[in-house]
Amino acid sequence: MINLEFALRVVVLLGIVGLISFMYWSIGNRTLRFFRLKAPRMWMALFSILLGALTMFLLLTVWVYHGFGYQPDIYRVGNRISNKVALTFDDGPSEEFTLPILDILKELDVPATFFMVGKHVEKYPHVAQRIVEDGHSIGNHTQNHRNLPTLSTRELQKEVMEAAAIILETTGVYPAFVRPPRGMYDDRFRRLATLLGQEIVLWSVSTRDWRYGVTATYIERLVDSQVRGGDIILFHDSGSLVKCEGGDRKATVSSLANVITILRAKGLEIVPLDELLHTAPAETFPQVDRPE
Ligand SMILES: [Zn+2]
Repeated sequence: MINLEFALRVVVLLGIVGLISFMYWSIGNRTLRFFRLKAPRMWMALFSILLGALTMFLLLTVWVYHGFGYQPDIYRVGNRISNKVALTFDDGPSEEFTLPILDILKELDVPATFFMVGKHVEKYPHVAQRIVEDGHSIGNHTQNHRNLPTLSTRELQKEVMEAAAIILETTGVYPAFVRPPRGMYDDRFRRLATLLGQEIVLWSVSTRDWRYGVTATYIERLVDSQVRGGDIILFHDSGSLVKCEGGDRKATVSSLANVITILRAKGLEIVPLDELLHTAPAETFPQVDRPE
């Protein structure tokens, strides 16, 4: 299912890999000549292509996960000076994991944000509704959890807008936040999110609870060693590495109460995402002499 737009991008990327490889090749040749050394042409060419491909891969990785330049429209963290943190759960809702998570959050009186996959909302509408009834925030995590930078613009729009419509229709709440699957985004996604009034929220601490064989103790230790004021903590209440449903999130569920205890013991306050991102620093303003 490769679309024309994606195929064109691949052709351009391969062209750039060729250019970079040629650059490495000519630098390598000049260096060898300077030192009066010789190397088989075949190996020189292969090595240059390998280095060119590696450079492109690194650039692409930075591009889809971090972008280039200043990006004030993308939240990765809240105010570092505050003692506030927020909990976020991706890929749900699911009956098996979201419901026990909601029970724990209710019992401990903790707010969270659920970035929901549209097709999972269609499958478990009652779970999505309970998230809202329990007072939690909701975010858009696209309709089918596909890698957005690989989609055509039309497909990308459909992925984001369809999920938003289904979430609104099911819960009565328009998602104020959006999180791209796997944290991969591009400029088209950023522009669309702005147009739709959905703030892009990534995370600063990943519990890595999507990993195969992860234990509750691992999650608790990771949070304990990494968390600071302002953090947006990422958990998953569904999903697996390859497919978007069917993973095992028992460790997430069984670690949650302890994670909350750890956060509170550190003096951190767990707040809704909206409060974490939109509260101005609390310091009092300095006195200024104003002309009458
Ligand atoms: Zn996800």
